[in-house]
Amino acid sequence: MIKPQDENVILNDEKVLETLLKVELEIKDSNGCEIGVVVDRNGKEIYRVNGQKAEVEAPPDDLVKNNVFTHNHPSGNCAFSNNDIYNIVKQDGYELRAVTSDGRFVSLRKNANVWDANILSGFSKVSGYRLFVKASQLAQIKHSGQATPIQINKEAENLVNEWLRNNAEKYGYIFTEGVI
Ligand SMILES: [Zn+2]
Repeated sequence: MIKPQDENVILNDEKVLETLLKVELEIKDSNGCEIGVVVDRNGKEIYRVNGQKAEVEAPPDDLVKNNVFTHNHPSGNCAFSNNDIYNIVKQDGYELRAVTSDGRFVSLRKNANVWDANILSGFSKVSGYRLFVKASQLAQIKHSGQATPIQINKEAENLVNEWLRNNAEKYGYIFTEGVI
């Protein structure tokens, strides 16, 4: 059950999902560049920005606030980055999504009126250099020291998504993984 923060906000979850599906099918391939899209809670696309290979500029705060921000990950890595999480918490968005060219997606949704900012320090433990080191170790063990970059990235993806799965209750969000 979704509780609007503002009584005037009309929510249309069915339309939101319909628009997200359409948008994500459009952006999932996108020539190897990231594209970011904001969808409002009525299911209307209100902003689109073209980015670079591994990043897209965050849309203006007032557009993301209580709305859905989705983007693609051309790297094929279906896991949020530290920046992704930082921006959605800072901008107080309702939902953050990322989609890969094979059609997989991850979603992080607010489950309370506000985000618990402690998620940022918690999540930093599974991002950046530390994540790379741990993912490399796991991949090398699994593949007898012959792990490829793709296999290391896969381990990194698993570590991030596992952390988000395990900490949903602690930080009060809803984490979903799926295929569009
Ligand atoms: Zn991202």
